[in-house]
Amino acid sequence: LRSFVVGGAGFIGSHLTDRLVERGPVTIYDNLSVGRRAFVASHLASGRATLVEADALDLERLTEAMAGHDLVVHLAANPEARWGLARTRLDLDQGTIATYNVLEAMRRAAVGRLIFSSSGTVYGDTPRRCAEGDLGALPISLYGASKLAGEALISAYVECFGLTAWIYRFGNVVGPRGTHGAALDFLKKLRDRRTELEVLGDGRQSKPYLDVRDCAEGILFGFDQARERLNIHNLAPEDATSVSRIAELCVAASPYPDAVIRYQGGERGWPGDVPRSRMDPGKLAALGFRVRHTSDEAVRMAVEALASEVFG
Ligand code: NAD
Repeated sequence: LRSFVVGGAGFIGSHLTDRLVERGPVTIYDNLSVGRRAFVASHLASGRATLVEADALDLERLTEAMAGHDLVVHLAANPEARWGLARTRLDLDQGTIATYNVLEAMRRAAVGRLIFSSSGTVYGDTPRRCAEGDLGALPISLYGASKLAGEALISAYVECFGLTAWIYRFGNVVGPRGTHGAALDFLKKLRDRRTELEVLGDGRQSKPYLDVRDCAEGILFGFDQARERLNIHNLAPEDATSVSRIAELCVAASPYPDAVIRYQGGERGWPGDVPRSRMDPGKLAALGFRVRHTSDEAVRMAVEALASEVFG
């Protein structure tokens, strides 16, 4: 299997690359805006992976680099949902247009299989435990909107140009090499402030958290087992963890266990944040996949790993 991973030097991309190199050569296509060469250095050194440092918005370069591969994995995106508040074109360009470019490059380079990283944010703000068919509510962030637009484009390319696609709606993914997210934010704030940790919202937001290795395993499990032309799967544990729990774990794992946690208040971390989300992993479970770690376990392991990355 010759894999082409757009965003492969990032957090999830580097863990997935760890697995894909077992199946054949991997080309990583990444502009290194967030991702790091160091995350994939061992595979580059062994020759099992190569890195093309380029942008998904450069359609010609993307098409040229993609030719000759069997599978495209598209993971590049704006990494922080709340950045869309300050830069309203960001998700349109880095989400929707980048996804169009990946699909168009696949059509031109005649590559037939695509794995896409979508998100639970496509379900919008709903108290339901969302299953794949539940698209009753619409996204409430520009990030979520771009993920739903990406899914729609993929569906159209599957139908019009004969692609096969695996779309995964992830919960919050956490673990070593994290490049963003609440736990990493909290640990960096503690490194800089030491005595206090300021947390957006009231700390009661609660969401499913998925260990990044479970994420990589689930992606490949679905790829191997799901046989539709368009396969859409939630990939998240069914339970959830609160932001206050993450903050407490970060304080305890830092060199400043007496730091005071200050909540800014409000039920949302920022406009567009879904305060409470739950996902139903049942469709992938029906194929035989079990998410190994609960949200709480995933968060605990991630905080430990990230604390040693941040504090050394
Ligand atoms: P990440 O930022 O670590 O990885 C994205 C990678 O894409 C980075 O290496 C970055 O340098 C690269 N990239 C970004 N824009 C690019 C562009 N225009 N051209 C080329 N490369 C570009 O983030 P991640 O957490 O690994 O997320 C991977 C994917 O999973 C993203 O699409 C993200 O939206 C999605 N996702 C992540 C989570 C999560 O909690 N981490 C949850 C749901 C969905």
